[in-house]
Amino acid sequence: MKINYDRAKCCGHNRCYSLAPEIWDVDDEGYAILRLEGDIPAELEEKAQLTADNCPEFAITVEA
Ligand code: SF4
Repeated sequence: MKINYDRAKCCGHNRCYSLAPEIWDVDDEGYAILRLEGDIPAELEEKAQLTADNCPEFAITVEA
């Protein structure tokens, strides 16, 4: 599974960071930073999907 993040859509709610700080960080302006590159470790796949489902701006997508 891979996670994709569209910075242009992000509005800085930080729900992603709240739900999965293992995957997301926050920059100085409050926008999300994706901490992972490449394949998501199996133990974080559920959380990756959770952040995609809860991003109100649809800035996060996951692909199998
Ligand atoms: S939940 Fe979505 S809009 Fe909010 S900070 Fe994360 S990526 Fe950006």
